Amino acid sequence: MKTKHILLGIGAILAVDYLIARINKTPKITYKEKLPFNYNALTLPPFGIRVQNKNKNNLLLIKHELVHWKQYRKTGAIIYYLKYGLQKAIYGYDKMPMEIEARKQTGETKYCQNNYTECVRNGEAITIKKPNFRV
Ligand SMILES: [Zn+2]
Repeated sequence: MKTKHILLGIGAILAVDYLIARINKTPKITYKEKLPFNYNALTLPPFGIRVQNKNKNNLLLIKHELVHWKQYRKTGAIIYYLKYGLQKAIYGYDKMPMEIEARKQTGETKYCQNNYTECVRNGEAITIKKPNFRV
């Protein structure tokens, strides 16, 4: 009986989280001087997208983050974070499907879709150039 109630509770939380995602069509984009881990931008469902001030006019970077927002809206925030964390742990940042999808829809080359860290560092990526990316 207790297990049933716990499962019902989890189901209710996931359902509400999913419904919020369905309503949450347009992310609030906010600009910050500095983001955690020196990120250029960050999608933080259900709250919105954070972009570094210096990337305010980087439309391709924002387009990349909007793909993550679309991914969030398909599942809700809880599943989004679980899926993202699992994919990162299993495949690593460069090879994880959610990131590859975002790079593909942003127009990165096939090579850069799969070798993003290298492409960002050497300037081959169209989204951003950053020699110290992920170091
Ligand atoms: Zn991304």
